[in-house]
Amino acid sequence: MRRVALVTGGSRGIGRAIAEALAREGLALAIAARSRDAVEEAARALRSAGAEAMAVALDVGDADAAALAVNAVAATLGPVDVLVNNAGIAESAPLARTDPELWERHFRTNVTGPYLLARAAVPGMVQRGWGRVINIASTAGLVGAPYLAAYTASKHALVGFTRALAAEVAGKGVTVNALCPGFTATELVWSSARNIVAKTGKTYDEAVAALARMNAGGRLVEPEEVAAVAVKLLTDDRSGDAIVIDGTTEERP
Ligand code: NDP
Repeated sequence: MRRVALVTGGSRGIGRAIAEALAREGLALAIAARSRDAVEEAARALRSAGAEAMAVALDVGDADAAALAVNAVAATLGPVDVLVNNAGIAESAPLARTDPELWERHFRTNVTGPYLLARAAVPGMVQRGWGRVINIASTAGLVGAPYLAAYTASKHALVGFTRALAAEVAGKGVTVNALCPGFTATELVWSSARNIVAKTGKTYDEAVAALARMNAGGRLVEPEEVAAVAVKLLTDDRSGDAIVIDGTTEERP
């Protein structure tokens, strides 16, 4: 059966790897992010590889835009069966320099965005009796991380939202899970490494190595490893789980 997936932040990094993996499974893809050029490029690349794909320019924290985006996908590809809430930001700062704007920006993108999109897409999934919501949280959604109060709090909130929604739709054919990757080889980590270089005098390679050592597996996670778990969830009935992907051989729990 042909399914339709909406992947936020699908223009690069983890979201792009998930979009490519879902396309290989035969799903039609809607790629959403703020940069129109970037989503159009990603959708074109998927189409060149033989997939059905559309681009959606969207700021996930914009309430009106989120509902419009879900409707636009339904009108072009069909109703959203798989929602991957992957778009997210991570800016580090000690608490004293975590100003209310930084705090609010993290919650708007990392929590309010997933809530708005789920609110627009999940009722249709329930009505049709099948759906998947995959929220890309983080290991910082389960444990504390220094200098990342806003990010950590927002990802804990996303895990809480995942569990609440999973309970609400239990038994209706719709599953809701969170993926919790450790530090993953994407622009988000390269920019954290540049930040560490600027603040500590470490070399770039030392900064990347320090981040990699914070993962249980002692290495960076590859975006494709996260994508492989997202694909597994298409055919798995588990729901309400926060699945850790941290560079060890098996995802947990
Ligand atoms: P990247 O920075 O590489 O990509 C982020 C994507 O999200 C881009 O496509 C970006 O596009 C999009 N995006 C950012 N803000 C918004 C917004 N307001 N509205 C719509 N799209 C937005 O990040 P990663 O691939 O590394 O991260 C993806 C997810 O995985 C995030 O939620 C992150 O927190 C999580 N994660 C990442 C880890 C890592 O180490 N890399 C570890 C654990 C979790 P644009 O800027 O054009 O909007």
